[in-house]
Amino acid sequence: MKIHEYQAKAILKKYGVAVQDGIAINSIDEFDNAVNSLKEKGVTQFVVKSQIHAGGRGKGIVYNKADRSEVVAQGGVKFFGSNLEGAKEYAAKILGNILVTHQSGAEGKEIRTLFIAEGLDYKKELYLGILLDRTNSKNVIMASTEGGVEIEKVAAETPEKIIKVWVEPSIGLQNFQARELGFGLNLEGNALKDFTKFIMALYTAYTESDASLLEINPLVMTNDDRILALDAKVTIDDNALFRHKDFESLRDLNEEDPLEIEASKYNLNYIKLDGNVGCMVNGAGLAMGTMDLIKLAGGEPANFLDVGGTASAETVENGFRIILTDPNVKAILINIFGGIVRCDRVANGIVQASGNLNINIPVVVRLQGTNAEEARQILKDSGLNLIPADTLQDAADKVTQALAQ
Ligand code: GDP
Ligand code: MG
Repeated sequence: MKIHEYQAKAILKKYGVAVQDGIAINSIDEFDNAVNSLKEKGVTQFVVKSQIHAGGRGKGIVYNKADRSEVVAQGGVKFFGSNLEGAKEYAAKILGNILVTHQSGAEGKEIRTLFIAEGLDYKKELYLGILLDRTNSKNVIMASTEGGVEIEKVAAETPEKIIKVWVEPSIGLQNFQARELGFGLNLEGNALKDFTKFIMALYTAYTESDASLLEINPLVMTNDDRILALDAKVTIDDNALFRHKDFESLRDLNEEDPLEIEASKYNLNYIKLDGNVGCMVNGAGLAMGTMDLIKLAGGEPANFLDVGGTASAETVENGFRIILTDPNVKAILINIFGGIVRCDRVANGIVQASGNLNINIPVVVRLQGTNAEEARQILKDSGLNLIPADTLQDAADKVTQALAQ
């Protein structure tokens, strides 16, 4: 689960991580109050930051929601210093409009929330990231003096500028490792001390909140040598969410794919992709194998969908409906291997779904395993215009042929 910058910063603050402070607002009417609260804390300079689940906001472009050809503003994050009039005008202009960044996809994201933050003057922009290194089965901390730019670019062009430290899971992050990172960032004196404290607290926040990614870009060294997080990107491991009931309210459904939300209501494991062949498969491994074969046959999967091991007629119908909601889908491939799930039940689901939904694209069906014979009979007797397939290869070939027609 991805969360917004302002939410990530609130979590980090709880663990004693120094962050650029601020207040989130959802309407321009809240702007003055937010500014006044910050002023009371001694803030004199201001930054307005769009809250969307995508990075690269600073270099993004804000478009008018009603008329996408109109550019409302350059940049979804802007520093205004003490110019509050300018900050308010900008905030009013961008709220409710669409921010497109290199990570948001061309359709962009609506700016529903703004983070009104303290503007800082700093002399260094650094990069700090923590994530799970699956190859080494350890968390890895990455640091770089090249903060503020895309880390992917640094990794590709100057990989020697990224320092990595792996954390032994049984003993956790050690002080000498924190200092090693600090030295690698050329920090000294107060900044080095501050950094060591910062990274120790950050690592605790990462593990205790069951994050799978924590990225601070940029981490800044202020003019008075303090180290703090200007930006914060946190992804929480979905499998650990049950341990964090308090994180439930952080979920922003506006940022998620509506079809994936719908599918999760029915316990369907659905991930939307860009192709045009809708797939309905039981079992994640078989689903991935099916997608590979579709690609080998020259097609592009429109989705990953694992209907699970206990697929019923209802599950199949819901799966169908979700696949059909995607306007890109031009053909469907159903690949079910009957083990615990019985093929005749799936066949009944297909017949039921066809009765309830308007399916006017080719559907290739491959049912093998338990009660496959009965299933074939049910489909045959239904009079539905389905394309039967025997092997997986046969199914993949037929669905790509159907697309061409
Ligand atoms: P991102 O573009 O989505 O990664 O958003 P960031 O939170 O990293 O902000 C983008 C950029 O805005 C930063 O890299 C800074 O250059 C600038 N910025 C944000 N806050 C401040 C601030 O307090 N002071 C100054 N001078 N620049 C800021
Ligand atoms: Mg950033």
